[in-house]
Amino acid sequence: RVNRGDFMLALDEVHPAFGVSEEELQSVIQNGIIRYDSSVDELLRSGQLIVEQVRTSKRAPVVNVLLHGPPGSGKTALAAAIAQASQFPFIKLITPDNMVGMGELQKISAIAKVFSDSYKSPLSVVVVDNIERLIDWSPMGARFSNPVLQALLVLIGKRPPKDRRLLVIATTSNRPILTDLGFADFNSVMRVPPITSLPALEYVIQEADLFPVDEDRRDAIRMLRDAGFDKKSRDDPTSRLQIGIKKLLSIIEMARQEPDGVAERLVTALMELDL
Ligand code: ATP
Ligand code: MG
Repeated sequence: RVNRGDFMLALDEVHPAFGVSEEELQSVIQNGIIRYDSSVDELLRSGQLIVEQVRTSKRAPVVNVLLHGPPGSGKTALAAAIAQASQFPFIKLITPDNMVGMGELQKISAIAKVFSDSYKSPLSVVVVDNIERLIDWSPMGARFSNPVLQALLVLIGKRPPKDRRLLVIATTSNRPILTDLGFADFNSVMRVPPITSLPALEYVIQEADLFPVDEDRRDAIRMLRDAGFDKKSRDDPTSRLQIGIKKLLSIIEMARQEPDGVAERLVTALMELDL
């Protein structure tokens, strides 16, 4: 006889497939979300509003959002953070990192399975991470997997069954290509910018606890300012400073490796980015 205990056990067992994989979400938000300037708060806030729209709207059972921005600007982590904050019962990440070595058909069936699993939950979030890599986009000869592309186009636009609501958060570092390939009608498009100001950079350095002594941190920032690091020229209104949070955090970790000359190594690494 199957009793309630067995049933609960069974529920536990299916949890990873049908619920929320906290570990997976956590692994892509490894370094947390640092609120280095207002753009971060605005993105999280917009994400929250969209989540509310999905939760309450009677008319739009599926909402698609695109997060785009330069490599390493924090798209995957933000998508995961917005998904996690929704507290929807089903949250799943479709990421190229989990599809290494899969053939086209395997990929398509893995992707389709996430969507069909999501239809079992009244409220779901599916993160479709790094679309250009999912379809094996290659700028050389503009090649890509057309079958995977077609599957994604269909699944992202598909209406879930009755009484099911779905939020799809897609990410890309190459928005123009996506538009060319037919991903034209996202309900909402949000840009995830790189860090371009010294105050934002300093905030990250401080949050990462790179310098135990405040004065050392200020010295490092002064060095960057003296080097004209945040200057904008008349010909080029963009700041010289353009760095994704992911890259910045890895430079900080590198600078941390040795106790001596941390500021110098940080500054050198940042200057070397600037070609
Ligand atoms: P790629 O272009 O390589 O896909 P990405 O834009 O998806 O990179 P992430 O993989 O999300 O970048 O990396 C961002 C890293 O920075 C994560 O480890 C995340 O925890 C950390 N992080 C800290 N603060 C923020 C923030 N405000 N926004 C996004 N990520 C942040
Ligand atoms: Mg990413």
